[in-house]
Amino acid sequence: MSVLLATSTDEAVSALADADAQALAGGTDFMVEVNDGHRRPKAVVALGGIAALRGWERSDDWVRLGAALTYTEMLDRDLAGLLPALAQAARTVGSPQIRNAGTIGGNLATASPAGDTLPVLAALDAVVEVAGPDGVRDVPVAAFVTGPKRNALRPGELIVAVRLPVLRGHQEYRKVGVRNAMVIAVASLALAVDTDGRTVRCALGSVGPVPLRATEAESWLAGCVDWDRLALPDPACLAVFADLVAQAARPIDDHRSTAAYRRHAVGVLAGRAAAQAFGGAAA
Ligand SMILES: Cc1cc2nc3c(=O)[nH]c(=O)nc-3n(C[C@H](O)[C@H](O)[C@H](O)COP(=O)(O)OP(=O)(O)OC[C@H]3O[C@@H](n4cnc5c(N)ncnc54)[C@H](O)[C@@H]3O)c2cc1C
Repeated sequence: MSVLLATSTDEAVSALADADAQALAGGTDFMVEVNDGHRRPKAVVALGGIAALRGWERSDDWVRLGAALTYTEMLDRDLAGLLPALAQAARTVGSPQIRNAGTIGGNLATASPAGDTLPVLAALDAVVEVAGPDGVRDVPVAAFVTGPKRNALRPGELIVAVRLPVLRGHQEYRKVGVRNAMVIAVASLALAVDTDGRTVRCALGSVGPVPLRATEAESWLAGCVDWDRLALPDPACLAVFADLVAQAARPIDDHRSTAAYRRHAVGVLAGRAAAQAFGGAAA
């Protein structure tokens, strides 16, 4: 196996033009597959030396995250202040070792239905910046994750960054698993309130082949909110919201859980997240 330690995006793109070459970031998904014998790359393009993929920056109402941003870096106080749900999601990932190595680009490219950043990116309508032999293109996250462990990258393409809007309003990420730490989500949910646009965004993880937006539930809740007080005049709205979110799920039975439990759990997460955002007591 050959290993290229790329130092620029152009160098990585050019090396990935070789059909046998595969990108390596933190290795927390990649090396598990290699060690299990499910992956036998002939050539590896290591991205860790590409400065342009690291760090984050804010410009106007957007934050741009380099593809090599780690979970630990997502917990940076300034970044967490701008993207609190992403920081909450990052905090739930793996162990400190995994959070130090694993990257947002790797989570996106792996496109696991249980990927913890994906519901947050879906709720915020993130844009994925991709570089390839034909130049750079933007892909909305909803079009980027095309199925379980499938993404929209074309041969030779690389994720370079993810752009997210900075919204005013409550944000949170919630996750259910078999224990509180080091756990793959059985159901997860990201909620983001946009007080300027008077909208609510809600995306679900681990309850469908891709992250799902609960659009009917979003509109229902936004219509219930007293936006001047940021409160729910009718607490019964919470239960309806939870039910609409549960209906939006497309869960399956698998080794981690049943479809019925997943649907129930994501509804409970929705009621609790909305209660946190607007007050009231969830069931
Ligand atoms: C013990 C353990 C616990 C874990 N816990 C969680 C968890 O709680 N939640 C969770 O969501 N995940 C979890 N994971 C999975 C993993 O840590 C994440 O998916 C992580 O974000 C992968 O990032 P990486 O940088 O390590 O990617 P890598 O393993 O380096 O790569 C993963 C895939 O992405 C591709 N890739 C990487 N970067 C790019 C890029 N810039 N452009 C194009 N393709 C790219 C690689 O070719 C590969 O196919 C866990 C893994 C382990 C081993």
